[in-house]
Amino acid sequence: MPNGADIIRQIKERIEEVDPREVHHLVYREGGGPNGVPPSAGPNGTVVVDVREQHEFEESHLPGAKHVPRGHLESRIETAAPDKSKRVILYCQSGNRSALAAHTMQDLLGYEDVASMTGGITLWKDRGYDVDVPLALSAEQRSRYSRHLLIPEIGLEGQMKLLDAKVLLLGAGGLGSPIALYLAAAGVGTLGIVDDDVVDLSNLQRQVAHSQDRLGMPKVDSAEIAIKEINGDVEVVKYQTRLDASNIMEIIEGYDVIVDGVDNFPTRYLLNDASVRTRIPVVSASILGFDGQLSVFHPYEGPCYRCLYPTPPPAELAPSCGANGVLGVLPGVMGLLQAVEVIKLVTGAGEPLTGRLLLYEALGATFTELKVRRDPECPICSRDPESISDEEMGVFPDYEAFCAASG
Ligand SMILES: [Zn+2]
Repeated sequence: MPNGADIIRQIKERIEEVDPREVHHLVYREGGGPNGVPPSAGPNGTVVVDVREQHEFEESHLPGAKHVPRGHLESRIETAAPDKSKRVILYCQSGNRSALAAHTMQDLLGYEDVASMTGGITLWKDRGYDVDVPLALSAEQRSRYSRHLLIPEIGLEGQMKLLDAKVLLLGAGGLGSPIALYLAAAGVGTLGIVDDDVVDLSNLQRQVAHSQDRLGMPKVDSAEIAIKEINGDVEVVKYQTRLDASNIMEIIEGYDVIVDGVDNFPTRYLLNDASVRTRIPVVSASILGFDGQLSVFHPYEGPCYRCLYPTPPPAELAPSCGANGVLGVLPGVMGLLQAVEVIKLVTGAGEPLTGRLLLYEALGATFTELKVRRDPECPICSRDPESISDEEMGVFPDYEAFCAASG
């Protein structure tokens, strides 16, 4: 009675085996073969099939390989390799399972040109050839984001986008706090935070990312602590500075979405002009007393801030320089509406608030929506973004000097 090793040896004598080097050279056409296809483009003409189990395939596999676990070979191989006259190369971890599968395909299923790769993916990797590592969540991530995975609009694909997203928060105050906490919880991969302030007792009425034991600490550091307590995987990029014309382009570069929680005129115009130039969408909110407003300024998809307010008001007409009163919960409401818009922009779910201005009046408990359109005469977004010069960008009256002068 032959043992298992004997059977495999006998089968290997009856099938064709190919070395990974040959597979790499002939199938993936290293360095641009006759067809000039780079290895990363996947197998060319030949069908490459991974016959390992699901978890092994998910870990890594040959570029472009199809997956048919050996246990499902008979029932599924025709979907992966419908043409029985075409060349099929099978591989597994070390070359045994694929040899058995090749034998089955050749002798029982009528495939004419089947081969098994010697040494499997192990030898392939030892030779230093590329493998695809598919996007997949770890077991911990699957558990953490399980409620997202259950909504079809987010699902695995949306969660992967969130994990890959870079979102910049301007301000770690009333609006920035709830946004930071919830976006961290939602799994946004990178959160940049711009804030030059330190935590003050008067902040704690609404700025929930901070705490009594962090009074006096820079807000970027305090927010980072709060974010990490919720989700240690989030990368926090801190900018303990004021956003101004000298640093804005450098800071916002590379972010997918910007969230404006700063709520002051100079920054708003500067940000608008820079975001139009870089085509980065801005989720903007402002709050005062019991009133909040919210919109998404997505350059060239909808209006920009200057389509609504072409030029900044003169300093003497700008809102008062001192602290304004606000219901402590209000930035929570508006900030979380901003966080929802960020998630929609990143995942592509739903209809973002582009071209619409949402007004919330807390005392009357009313939401009002206003349509806002792009202004064909807009001083900024009516033009080619490349033509907006540094000198023109964010030109506004010096509110800070005005406020300082008025005491
Ligand atoms: Zn505009």
